[in-house]
Amino acid sequence: MQILQENRHTAQQLANYFQTTLKEILEDLEHIQKSIKPKKLKIEPSFCKSCNFVFKERGKVSKPSKCPRCKSEWIEAQMFFIE
Ligand SMILES: [Zn+2]
Repeated sequence: MQILQENRHTAQQLANYFQTTLKEILEDLEHIQKSIKPKKLKIEPSFCKSCNFVFKERGKVSKPSKCPRCKSEWIEAQMFFIE
């Protein structure tokens, strides 16, 4: 939780950092979301690094594999942080 207050991280980076699975991280994030009030867990949406298309309506599970606009697979995963 601490590191989310200092910086933005993707779920994958958190999984690497805590040496756990992506699934576990996502469950933890949901839990954190409820327990950090009045602070908030924010999610910066995934976006295409090629054309800057933003994936707004995405659930929090996995990152999209392709950009619907330019078909690029150069996608930045969503970032989590606490504010
Ligand atoms: Zn694109």
